[in-house]
Amino acid sequence: MRQASLAWEAKCSRCGLCCHEKVIVGRQVIYDLDSHCEHYDRKTHQCKIYLQRLDRESRCRRVTRFAAMFASYLPESCAYVQWARSRHLRFAIRRHVRFTRGDRGDTGDEEPNPSLCLSE
Ligand code: SF4
Repeated sequence: MRQASLAWEAKCSRCGLCCHEKVIVGRQVIYDLDSHCEHYDRKTHQCKIYLQRLDRESRCRRVTRFAAMFASYLPESCAYVQWARSRHLRFAIRRHVRFTRGDRGDTGDEEPNPSLCLSE
């Protein structure tokens, strides 16, 4: 991997939010904390196969500069969104972030990663 690619990859704070199922409803993006990629570790909130994720998980997408600028499903807390915003390159609609627990209620053992609990 090229040095520039490594530097870009290193921007990710591994918060894991983009690993969760999400829906966009109007001006909101709703992340389901109970539904996520099979490679997501619920204890650490990180991807268990991060370095191989693009080869092993067909649904996983690299967050490109284009996505950082335009993908409105990424939360404001995302390091790539912050990178784009700091350069006045963020053009996606600003959405309110909400969390849900799917249909299993709030009885999970683990707490959501506190860094994820941003609501605009
Ligand atoms: S939401 Fe952004 S910072 Fe968090 S894991 Fe995904 S790409 Fe990385």
